[in-house]
Amino acid sequence: PSTSNSTLLRHLTPEQQSAVVHIDGPMLTLAGPGSGKTRVVTHRIAHLLEHGIPEWQIAALTFTNKAADEMRARVDALVPGKQVWMGTFHRFCAQLLRRYASMVGLQENYSIYDTSDSKQAMKRAIAATGVSTSHASPDMIANLISKAKNKLITPDVWQAQMLSPQEKVASQVYPIYQQQLLTANAVDFDDLLLHVANLLRQNPELRSDLDAHFRYIMVDEYQDTNLAQYAIVRGLSVDYPNLAVTGDPDQSIYGWRGADLNNILDFEKDYPDVKTVRLEQNYRSTPNILRAADQLIRHNRRRKQKDLFTDNDEGAPVTLRICSDGFDEADSIADEIVNLIACETARPSDFAIFCRMNSLTRSVEHALRGRGVPYQIVNGVEFYQRKEVKDVLSYLHLVNNPGHDVALTRVINTPTRGIGAKTIERLQGFADRNAIPMLEAARRVDEIDALAKRSRTMVSKFVDLYDKIATKATASLEDLMRYLVQETKYDQYLEKTASDSDDSSPTANIDELITAGADFDRRHPEDGSLDTFLEQVALVSDTDAFDDSDERVTLMTLHASKGLEFPRVYIIGVEDDLLPHKRSKDDDSQFEEERRLFFVGITRAEQTLQISCCKRRMIRGERRPVIPSPFLNELPLDEIKRVDTSVNRGPWFDSVDQSTPSDWDMPEIQVNANEDTSFDFGANTNQTNEAVAVFDGPDDSDITMTPDEPPTEPSSTA
Ligand code: ATP
Ligand code: MG
Repeated sequence: PSTSNSTLLRHLTPEQQSAVVHIDGPMLTLAGPGSGKTRVVTHRIAHLLEHGIPEWQIAALTFTNKAADEMRARVDALVPGKQVWMGTFHRFCAQLLRRYASMVGLQENYSIYDTSDSKQAMKRAIAATGVSTSHASPDMIANLISKAKNKLITPDVWQAQMLSPQEKVASQVYPIYQQQLLTANAVDFDDLLLHVANLLRQNPELRSDLDAHFRYIMVDEYQDTNLAQYAIVRGLSVDYPNLAVTGDPDQSIYGWRGADLNNILDFEKDYPDVKTVRLEQNYRSTPNILRAADQLIRHNRRRKQKDLFTDNDEGAPVTLRICSDGFDEADSIADEIVNLIACETARPSDFAIFCRMNSLTRSVEHALRGRGVPYQIVNGVEFYQRKEVKDVLSYLHLVNNPGHDVALTRVINTPTRGIGAKTIERLQGFADRNAIPMLEAARRVDEIDALAKRSRTMVSKFVDLYDKIATKATASLEDLMRYLVQETKYDQYLEKTASDSDDSSPTANIDELITAGADFDRRHPEDGSLDTFLEQVALVSDTDAFDDSDERVTLMTLHASKGLEFPRVYIIGVEDDLLPHKRSKDDDSQFEEERRLFFVGITRAEQTLQISCCKRRMIRGERRPVIPSPFLNELPLDEIKRVDTSVNRGPWFDSVDQSTPSDWDMPEIQVNANEDTSFDFGANTNQTNEAVAVFDGPDDSDITMTPDEPPTEPSSTA
């Protein structure tokens, strides 16, 4: 081996090395958390490059943009200056689709609808189809269509199947929705995969060209791929079956988005001469943490047992903390963090706090802020969903793609310019009848008889304004954004409508967006364009906002924590109906997925782990008793350190109890945390079940999906 090769292999076990030096032919790396799967991918890329494989023949598909950035930095450190394609499936497909847009009936400046855009488009399609939504809500229809798309089912095939009444409705809406998307020159997240999978299926020549181009494809976190993603990598690995995937079936947490565990379980069947590598040494966690994870996941029935060992120090026992309520939970964690930082045993960036739903972080934020501890909330999607940000982006969308009807509907009367809902409806009707975009309909406003003269004038004025802004389409993003904010008088509108109670300033958010645009201009001096910027924004995921260069405590959802690691981890709100989530209770496979989600959280921890649950929690503004998660009972309780702070009521607790005396009437949940032998959550669950108010979990309408991330959960707790 060359000298550089030996550096490359130096910090790898023999098993890891055997995966890294593998060049041709399919390979499956199947291993538990922290065993170096991701490390194997980066080192293998470096090895391929050193072996003389041209950089453009390699593509590495990661689960988040953040993971891709990290991988790029690692590969660059090993083999500098190479341009290997790394990114998410959605980005990969988005870029292919720019190139081959015309083959699926799109133009290359097509738009990517985010979840809220798709929702609007879906409502319009439902209305145009004329189906009744009394038995199938728009969200349910959207969900069913999304599932069909992820399974590559076309409308006609679907309609020919035996369907439930809801599916029947959805299958009627599906073709109309697709047609409207094409008219708008737009795709939703599922379409990115679907169009590319279809391109490959229907165009053998293109498929074989791309197969020959991307000869070495790697997929990390393969357990979370769906059928469409499977079809894509499979289609690109026929003539050159050098497909290397890594994954851990126990960490599959995206079933709700169509991820199919069979993709990984059947890999060996699909590629009979596959090289399978198993990694069994964990480099991340203490034995204490690993045993907790292992005990828990053993309760899943649909799995194969994997044994992980580690040479790491035994470390501290895992802690289980029982708190009075969310405030007690937050305060105790914040106090502990402050103490550890004060005595210099830890730095802020060592800490991560995970929860099932974003909304649970609020009390923790409050506690950290009150103690002056810097923190970051990793929810990258949220910024782009803020009203003012979305408004400005919608103008950009419309400049980039005049067919973007959702954007037009959003901005045509924002800031208010006297164009009412009726007028918009009539524009939409005219557009539908003529199968043209709404902006086109607005240009032909004189043909819409039903519109009053005044309305026509207003619409024409908007078209003039649009045309004026569109002249700057090729300016830098920064100039374009500044220009449109000024021309639309958007800043004045914000000043007028901003409410003082809002703690995030809308004007500051607009400034931040413009800064992001300027930053993009700088980083893409040549190839930067409006559509690539918008594509980047559309495909952002929660985890992308994670900044590990900063000295801050990290707050994030369990879903967003995938693939990451932190020295000290807290998992909060491990309570029934939260984790496992209420929605998963009637379905075995969903229930097991919740357990895997908990498993993912536990296995992020390197040195210490605290799991906590409360006796009461604020739910929709009310303090209610809650019951511990059944998963707690599945942990190795005999070796876990239990702390019950719920008896030590702090000042907050007293004051609230006084203000809500009726609270005392509620039955207390008996968690006998101080008695080792009788610590049985299951039994207590039964005992208190009746008395417990049912937690109104999120309904589907609260869920926003992003391509790479889980639902940004609703604010049902405080
Ligand atoms: P997950 O399933 O959680 O994604 P993973 O299998 O991808 O985990 P990595 O993130 O690649 O695991 O590795 C976990 C940690 O162990 C990382 O900090 C990595 O640098 C370290 N590590 C992996 N292999 C070795 C090794 N041979 N020697 C030293 N450290 C290692
Ligand atoms: Mg990994």
